[in-house]
Amino acid sequence: MEEGNLFASPPAAVADDWQAALAACRDCPLCREGNRGPTGYTGPLSAPLMIVGEGPGAVEDEYGVPLVGPSGELLNRALASVGISREAVYVTNVIKCRPRGNRTPTPAEGLHCARRWLLQEIGAVNPVAILALGKAALTFFAAPFAKTAPGIVRRRGTWIDWAGMDGVAGRPVMPTFHPAYLLRLHGREEVRAKWQVYDDLQAVKARVETAVGTVAWGGATPPDWRRQWDTARAMRMQRKGEGR
Ligand code: SF4
Repeated sequence: MEEGNLFASPPAAVADDWQAALAACRDCPLCREGNRGPTGYTGPLSAPLMIVGEGPGAVEDEYGVPLVGPSGELLNRALASVGISREAVYVTNVIKCRPRGNRTPTPAEGLHCARRWLLQEIGAVNPVAILALGKAALTFFAAPFAKTAPGIVRRRGTWIDWAGMDGVAGRPVMPTFHPAYLLRLHGREEVRAKWQVYDDLQAVKARVETAVGTVAWGGATPPDWRRQWDTARAMRMQRKGEGR
């Protein structure tokens, strides 16, 4: 992978082998579930913090990058609340192809795609710490060979001493709620969960800063991803989409 920031450049400008190979991946049945192909990543390859979500939703499938829909906007605001700009962190997903109808991917599907792509990303970016969003990411790092996912409510906020996999070195992983889950909550439950995510973000930020000292966490203005990605979206929307 070459140094690049997909929030600053459309995918065509990041013409490296890794992106091309990912875009062409048909390595599992998920590529036949009506999506527009694998989604990539956002952020610099030099980022000390990696954020790993579950898989693309409808908006992410349109734009070809992770966490850019309503969930992504909430993530950006949550990051900003602790003084981190989205552009300063590397963001990706366990699973690159959107499951049909936004169904929850199985742990086996997550493990397969992660071993194919996510592990390469972790090896290339070599982040100090990883923030795992939601069940699928928690499962990959905490219980990758489990048939059922561990509970995120019980596990969030507690560091996972991830041992690594397939030759990729381990590192600390903080599980927290996925923003899509937060968007489904209301009232006191929503307020409580958002404060828990805030605490988890503070913990992961402190861990990175303890390891590397001063970190350039970026400015306070979140990226205007709709404007930046319109061209890429138009190209993906011409693909077959449902029924691919
Ligand atoms: S889900 Fe992952 S492994 Fe499967 S086709 Fe898509 S990119 Fe390839």
